[in-house]
Amino acid sequence: MLSSKSSKCSHGEVEFLGEQSGDKGVNRYYKCRKCGAVLVLSEDGVLYEVTAESVGKLQRESQ
Ligand SMILES: [Zn+2]
Repeated sequence: MLSSKSSKCSHGEVEFLGEQSGDKGVNRYYKCRKCGAVLVLSEDGVLYEVTAESVGKLQRESQ
């Protein structure tokens, strides 16, 4: 059975980018090697998914 979720990536291979201190604690950043999405793991254990497009925006805002 073929999956139609071709745009959905399970982010099986991620690369640790680094961590950044925020107001609510330390966020850890990972980048998926397959789709290029950046994953943000908050100190609460919540995982946020950031698309590659909005990463540049994020980096601009943090400066
Ligand atoms: Zn992925």
